[in-house]
Amino acid sequence: MSEVSSQLPDSRPGYDYLIVGAGFAGAVLAERLASTGQRVLIVDKRPHIGGNAYDRYDDAGILIHPYGPHIFHTNSKQVFDYLSRFTAWRPYQHRVLSSVDGQLLPIPINLDTVNRLYGLHLSASELEDYFASVAEPVTQIRTSEDVVVSRVGRDLYQKFFRGYTRKQWGLDPSELAASVTARVPTRANRDDRYFTDTYQAMPMHGYTRLFEAMLASPLISVMLNTDYRDIVSLLPWRHMIYTGPLDAYFDYRYGRLPYRSLQFDHVTHPVEQFQPVGTVNHPNDYAYTRVSEFKYLTGQRHPQTSVVYEYPVAEGDPYYPVPRAENAELAARYAADAVAEPRVTFVGRLATYRYYNMDQVVAQALKVFQDLQAEPDTADDRPVAVSTSAAVTSL
Ligand code: FAD
Ligand code: UDP
Repeated sequence: MSEVSSQLPDSRPGYDYLIVGAGFAGAVLAERLASTGQRVLIVDKRPHIGGNAYDRYDDAGILIHPYGPHIFHTNSKQVFDYLSRFTAWRPYQHRVLSSVDGQLLPIPINLDTVNRLYGLHLSASELEDYFASVAEPVTQIRTSEDVVVSRVGRDLYQKFFRGYTRKQWGLDPSELAASVTARVPTRANRDDRYFTDTYQAMPMHGYTRLFEAMLASPLISVMLNTDYRDIVSLLPWRHMIYTGPLDAYFDYRYGRLPYRSLQFDHVTHPVEQFQPVGTVNHPNDYAYTRVSEFKYLTGQRHPQTSVVYEYPVAEGDPYYPVPRAENAELAARYAADAVAEPRVTFVGRLATYRYYNMDQVVAQALKVFQDLQAEPDTADDRPVAVSTSAAVTSL
């Protein structure tokens, strides 16, 4: 990719925008800003573009997602149309089975899940009656436990949700916001798709190619293997877009915001197909939560197959904001400081501490672009170097 360089960029006097992070948030804004003639420098400390959506071919020649399986789905025509400028698509509907009581059962819980688990022959309407009979009344749904027990009762909750959630987050579902398990619906029909969004598709040639197309403008310079702190006061820029962790930007002045991490164990098996669907969840056994087989996602044909095991851990790269009230309060303190940063805009999953999917990050970035257009920097138009620490301590 000729536009991508790990060298210091050329001798132009400066950049209009310094963008920290080359994931979806940073790449969308780089592309949009460059389309209006702005000069953009996008920096990432990793050796590649794409953020957590980055994909590459492994040693066996199989396209994998090094940071875990990324399946694109959205109800937003605007987001889908926007990304379609940079990629063709391969339709893909993700299916997940959960390993419970010695069977592989559909998750989200549906009619077949319940019938096969309990050896029943319920119809859809009988299943609704069944759920009503086992559901626990909850006056106010506050936690991730409330969401599930109030819908499907305690036994299904314990079999499908409690163990998985404890493993994934290191917390009991009763300690997590309702929004976490609410991501997974319950169905009385036989629909076994993980998502029901209008648009469900994978970039035809992978995410990295999509990002290359987004960053192809000659007005965009890409600097990899670089922590922005190492260059922030060396290069002139006018406005910063920051997509890294919110607390890190402020040197953890109010303490650490919890981000859950994962360790990925990538394995290539000498068989054409390893498991019956794209992802198998393991709520109750093993230290890993799920196993995903990439060829389902990508449609690639290959005599071997590559899978990834996800092991949740407390320390490591920040992957998930942890949705619970006390963390939201701490994030709000940082967010108040973020708003007060005159030359910096915070965008994306880590920088706004929101458990966002890719499409939500794209939508957020498109909105930020609109806002930047509507309220251009009132600051002096000349590019100036502003060191982050100076900007922060001047608050
Ligand atoms: P990131 O992609 O995290 O990009 C931020 C970038 O900033 C990183 O590349 C980082 O290296 C860089 N950075 C941070 N600090 C600095 C610094 N100091 N200097 C320079 N660079 C820095 N979403 C879906 O829609 N579907 C899925 O199936 C899906 N699966 C997922 C599976 C897993 C295991 C995970 C963790 C996430 C998944 N997501 C999925 C969510 C998706 O990854 C995010 O919504 C999206 O990638 C967020 O984009 P972003 O640009 O906000 O952040
Ligand atoms: N979850 C669960 N059992 C499952 C699937 C999900 O308990 O079989 C819970 C768990 O807390 C998980 C959350 O629902 O973190 C959201 O699941 P999702 O698949 O959306 O997680 P992600 O793909 O973002 O890791």
